[in-house]
Amino acid sequence: MQQGTISVQTENIFPIIKKFLYSDHEIFLRELVSNAVDACQKVKSLTVSGEINADTSALRVQVITDKTANTLTIRDNGIGMTAEEVDKYINQIAFSGAEEFVSKYKDAQIIGHFGLGFYSAFMVAKKVEITTLSQRTGSKAVTWSCDGSPNFEMSETEKLTAGTDIVLHLADDSLEFIEDSRIEEILNKYCKFMPVEIQFGTRTDRKDDPSGEKDENGFAKTIDVQIDNIINNTSPLWMKKPADLKDEDYLSFYRELYPMTFEEPLFHIHINVDFPFHLTGILYFPKMKNSFEIQKNKVQLYSNQVFITDEVKNILPDFLTLLHGVVDSPDIPLNVSRSYLQEDANVKKISAHITKKVADKLQSMFNNERADFEKKWDDINVFIQYGMLSDEKFYEKAKDFSLYKTTGDQYLTLEETKEKIQDTQKDKSGNTIALYANDRHEQHAFIAAAEERGYIVFEMNTPLTPHFISQLESKNPSLRFKRVDADVLDKLIEKENPLPSSLSEEQQKTLKSIIEGLIDTKIFNVQFENMSPTDAPFIVTQNEFMRRMKEQSAFGGNSFYGTLPESYTLSANSNHPVMEKILAGDDEGKETAKQTIDLALLAKGLLKGEALTTFVKRSYTLLG
Ligand code: ADP
Repeated sequence: MQQGTISVQTENIFPIIKKFLYSDHEIFLRELVSNAVDACQKVKSLTVSGEINADTSALRVQVITDKTANTLTIRDNGIGMTAEEVDKYINQIAFSGAEEFVSKYKDAQIIGHFGLGFYSAFMVAKKVEITTLSQRTGSKAVTWSCDGSPNFEMSETEKLTAGTDIVLHLADDSLEFIEDSRIEEILNKYCKFMPVEIQFGTRTDRKDDPSGEKDENGFAKTIDVQIDNIINNTSPLWMKKPADLKDEDYLSFYRELYPMTFEEPLFHIHINVDFPFHLTGILYFPKMKNSFEIQKNKVQLYSNQVFITDEVKNILPDFLTLLHGVVDSPDIPLNVSRSYLQEDANVKKISAHITKKVADKLQSMFNNERADFEKKWDDINVFIQYGMLSDEKFYEKAKDFSLYKTTGDQYLTLEETKEKIQDTQKDKSGNTIALYANDRHEQHAFIAAAEERGYIVFEMNTPLTPHFISQLESKNPSLRFKRVDADVLDKLIEKENPLPSSLSEEQQKTLKSIIEGLIDTKIFNVQFENMSPTDAPFIVTQNEFMRRMKEQSAFGGNSFYGTLPESYTLSANSNHPVMEKILAGDDEGKETAKQTIDLALLAKGLLKGEALTTFVKRSYTLLG
């Protein structure tokens, strides 16, 4: 028997390992299982190279719980270790690796807490035993144990088959890891796509009764059988060639990734890069609609099929974290703190590549399947707006396929829009005016009036719309967006032959004072417009600039505009015949003014409460 002390350079690191990342103790299992998987794969590669001669047909990792002894065993039939190798890899390299890791990162937020390795076992175990037999011919089995002090024991032992058992004697405060459900949960999280079979316990299956007997209904009798429970899918879809896969394969893989989700994704992107970095993965576009739901299905980051994290912030651009799926890259550095990640050259290249892939996919759908792309548009609109707002490169690509939906349910690109409206929708300074509505119902009267004049109105109503519109305007200096109810139409868009006014200045003055006597002048500003006699007598509008400022301050921006009261313009149509009646200034005139102003408020959705009741009563009286 050999006894020794693990060379401790700083202080005793076991208490530190134990405390390390308290909430993430569960990663010990990922570290040990992935060591076991590596050991199995080494058997394959050394057999191929002829260095050893081993059976590679049944390589497997097993996780075994013993509830009487409170031990958890990770068993593999992989490469195993000789006594020299245990000394070299466990006593020296593994330990100094763990020591370095802990001293460097004990206060940092490492991605997925990768890199603690074998010694992470001491986060949950009071004693760890290794029993191992190397695949190399003539090797002797060896056992190693360590009770959490810097002292270890090592001796020869009996072991019939090559491979390694790592036995953890669980510490009293870590007995949760003896529970099958807990182990299965951890294995499902971290090991679900590792490349060597991982077996944990058994599950019940049904098969035909070997007696061949039939049941009372004449069907073959079946019996319950126990079969090994294999945790993982050793060749996940993202590792396969896209050319070999069908849409159904992607759909069933989505269900495998997110078993609790019933909504199907809209489409997917399969990423497969070998140079200048390694990157594979499948990204799915979920239906996003207009809401920023808390995303329960997140993009999962893997490194060579080992799950690292689904907190991919700092690794992917924010807007891409709205997608679902898997990204696998061994080139993302995992043992650096999160704050360094964004600055890492590989991470930058990888996220730029993914962004480009996503834009290319959307562009090709736009080019080749426009009708289908339009059908999906409402579901991906927010995602694309978010990308265009937050990522300059994405903006440059997306501006060509980004669509704008009209109130007539047409989908136009910005270029198509400009072509359609640049001659017909201009203001008096020569800017092209794009009209939009954010609520088809609330702004119906205004939309209908614009459509009647042959104008195009867009429906723009995501939470990002105010910011998005500002961005479009700054990128397209002669293009202005105006909500349909921002002013009377003939002021938003200049008419070729403006109408003269039927009212003299004197008459307008008189009318103004009558009208102002009927409304709250702190809220409403009265002006006259020379509209057609068939247009409404009054129109209530809200200035585009003021409204946008208020909207943005509601988002938490400018507090000055946020505190201003709502203000509106009440435009009186000087050419409407009703003006003459109001001008008379008698009771009938006043009633007419009240009624027609209320109708304008109603069309703008502003007539509520007591004012609405009064209006309804007055309407009955007028009819009577
Ligand atoms: P890493 O896996 O990052 O090299 P570890 O501390 O996890 O670091 O392991 C150190 C070394 O111990 C491994 O590189 C490997 O050589 C050896 N080792 C660990 N577990 C096993 C195992 N199950 N079978 C064979 N060798 C192992």
